[in-house]
Amino acid sequence: MKLLIADDDLTSRTMLAAVARKWGFEPVVAEDGEVAWQILQGEDPPRLLLLDWMMPQLNGLELCQRIRQQDNDEPPFIILLTSRRETADIVAGLASGANDYVAKPFENAELQARLQVGRRMVNMQTQLSVAAQALIYQASYDDLTKLMNRRGVMDALAKEFARAQRESQTLCVGLCDIDHFKQVNDTYGHLVGDVVLSEVAKRMEVTLRPYDHIGRYGGEEFLIVLTANRDQASIIFERLHRAVTDTPIIVGQAKLGVSVSCGVSIFAPLGGAGDSTSLLAEADNALYEAKESGRNRTVFVPV
Ligand code: GH3
Ligand code: MG
Ligand code: MG
Repeated sequence: MKLLIADDDLTSRTMLAAVARKWGFEPVVAEDGEVAWQILQGEDPPRLLLLDWMMPQLNGLELCQRIRQQDNDEPPFIILLTSRRETADIVAGLASGANDYVAKPFENAELQARLQVGRRMVNMQTQLSVAAQALIYQASYDDLTKLMNRRGVMDALAKEFARAQRESQTLCVGLCDIDHFKQVNDTYGHLVGDVVLSEVAKRMEVTLRPYDHIGRYGGEEFLIVLTANRDQASIIFERLHRAVTDTPIIVGQAKLGVSVSCGVSIFAPLGGAGDSTSLLAEADNALYEAKESGRNRTVFVPV
């Protein structure tokens, strides 16, 4: 683990770096607070910091304050080194954002023990942050298809709807459902069904533009949100049908021809009326019509 050592005194800087290396840290040295600050702004900065209080330019206390003002998902663990032993000084050091302090002159064993605590805290923080990222991902993404899940794509719809209203843009909301999917499960089993589901999801996703949104709305049904007018949407949905049907999906020995049916509603800003819920309901009705009229097609709600 990298350890930033900021100390203006060459002898103590060198000595600290030597013991730190002996204790298994990777020392990064700075001769004053300003240099330390620059190091912290770089790529992959040290997360465990040993800062001398008294330094020219920017002292340890000011550096602490500056670090704590930064918004940081993985804040560093800061140990202040100080010859000041008054309670008021210690309080000031901790209040400025230090996690711990070591009074000079110090025993090596004590410094080592405190650095170990710091290392533990930094590792714990990393684990927490990794777990939090995973939770954030799981809350909005679907495990099987890797598309957004219902919550994720509904959030996208709400945002895009607000934007369409604000910027007077046309917005398309499409619901696409795999045709006769139950037959796939019944004939080939649920695992093959899963493969087909992810493959269809992938094929639809790649036909969309990077700024379009697609998510798994439920079971074998997908919600698509596009900033597009009717003509553009026709082209996109045609492309989507072809991407799904043109080549059969091969799973083991089986070669499956798959299609989807879609219902698309359009929010036209000049008409102005409606909200995202009614757009969704209209798209659902159009999807029903697409199924009823023979499947493997898109039905647009007339604007
Ligand atoms: P339609 O053309 O009218 O949409 O017919 P369908 O068979 O696709 O529709 P239905 O609603 O009768 O069946 C959908 C099936 O999708 C039933 C359900 O078991 C299956 N399904 C939903 N989620 C999953 C999944 O994650 N994996 C698998 N393998 N099947 C799923
Ligand atoms: Mg279906
Ligand atoms: Mg369905």
